[in-house]
Amino acid sequence: MTLQSTPPAAFHVMVKPRGPICNLSCAYCYYLPKSRLYPDSQFKMDDRTLEAFTRQYIEAQRVPEVTFGWQGGEPTLMGIDFFRRAVELQELYRPPGMRVLNALQTNGVLIDDEWAEFFRKHRFLIGLSLDGPRALHDAYRRDQADRPSFDRVMAGLSALQRHHVEYNILTTVHAANADHPLEVYRFLRDEVNAPFIQFIPIVRRANVSGNQQGTALASTSVTAGQYGDFLTTVFDEWVRVDVGRVFVQIFDVALAAWAGHRPGLCVFESTCGTAMVLEHNGDLYACDHFVEPRFLIGNILETPLLELVGSPRQRQFGLAKSDTLPRQCRNCEVQFVCHGGCPKNRILIPPGEEYPINILCEGYQQFFTHIRHAMDLMVEELRAQRPPAGVMARLLQEDAVLQQRFRLARRNDPCPCGSGRKYKHCHGQR
Ligand code: SF4
Ligand code: SF4
Repeated sequence: MTLQSTPPAAFHVMVKPRGPICNLSCAYCYYLPKSRLYPDSQFKMDDRTLEAFTRQYIEAQRVPEVTFGWQGGEPTLMGIDFFRRAVELQELYRPPGMRVLNALQTNGVLIDDEWAEFFRKHRFLIGLSLDGPRALHDAYRRDQADRPSFDRVMAGLSALQRHHVEYNILTTVHAANADHPLEVYRFLRDEVNAPFIQFIPIVRRANVSGNQQGTALASTSVTAGQYGDFLTTVFDEWVRVDVGRVFVQIFDVALAAWAGHRPGLCVFESTCGTAMVLEHNGDLYACDHFVEPRFLIGNILETPLLELVGSPRQRQFGLAKSDTLPRQCRNCEVQFVCHGGCPKNRILIPPGEEYPINILCEGYQQFFTHIRHAMDLMVEELRAQRPPAGVMARLLQEDAVLQQRFRLARRNDPCPCGSGRKYKHCHGQR
């Protein structure tokens, strides 16, 4: 593909005002080791950098809405005054008619009434990291003194709920919780009242740099099979009782792709390059998962943000995702939704391939194949201008018909589920 020099009309920069500094020390964190990049730094974004970024970010967008994304490390360690100033600067540089939104990802530990009141007043969308009920959450989400964080996170959640702050839940799927999909999902749905859930797979390389190098994986990583099982199990419950009530990011993404739209999540887009990271000192990196010297695009205090975003290096980074798509992906039936997944997870080169394939491939194939029928039904509902939630009644009806056919099947009949096996070896097993 040829490299264009025009920057995209819209792009997203995730800001890390305290770099990798955090008040927890989660076992699978890929960002804590990034403190090695800036050995003498206090890791605090100064006012000059904040102002330069705010002005340039707003000026660079050619869309009517811009979202500031705050992350870390733990962004609340900057203190509320930093965010008061951020909002003030946004208001100063916002042109008439432009809408400015803020989304902040937090571990929740510091969230109290004062924070929650601030978030509510300025309509921040809060992403709260929570890995499931107590034991599953505390397996890896612990502080430097190895103390669990569950109670502190739940106290933060209560503050958000008391002040009616809009929030969603980010749950990582890892070695400790992957075999408990329904326990995790039902906890988030029934006890946390999560309106929107992201399930992010942990695939962490076993090295001390946190860089995407080496092929060995840390023991906290989820396997492809576990991730596929996790998603299909949650999907089967969701698609029968929760459509339109609980939003799960990867299910939404899949429905968009099935309906012929863009997935809207970089992992499942055909190319990357429009989701960058700004470190505390103004350094801009190609992506949150590639904060490494070789992917440093430049510093916004020296080169305008727009120039960096449109630079050949950043374009090259983005296009590499499709340019290095393995043959197996190009011939894959679910490529239209998967697009080979995130390049950070493309780790091993299978025999006969030129490029590495996604370590989660088998799980993606399992999941996207499994949901095909339900997705087709939801798309039919959408095309008939009905809400996709209609899929629940249709599946209920199909389930009832299938149960009836199971009751009538004889032991040597083909199994009514369509597996191709005899009933006695499939759903008819005693
Ligand atoms: S490398 Fe992965 S996380 Fe980064 S932009 Fe690409 S798909 Fe997204
Ligand atoms: S499921 Fe596997 S083969 Fe298919 S596009 Fe995704 S990573 Fe590639």
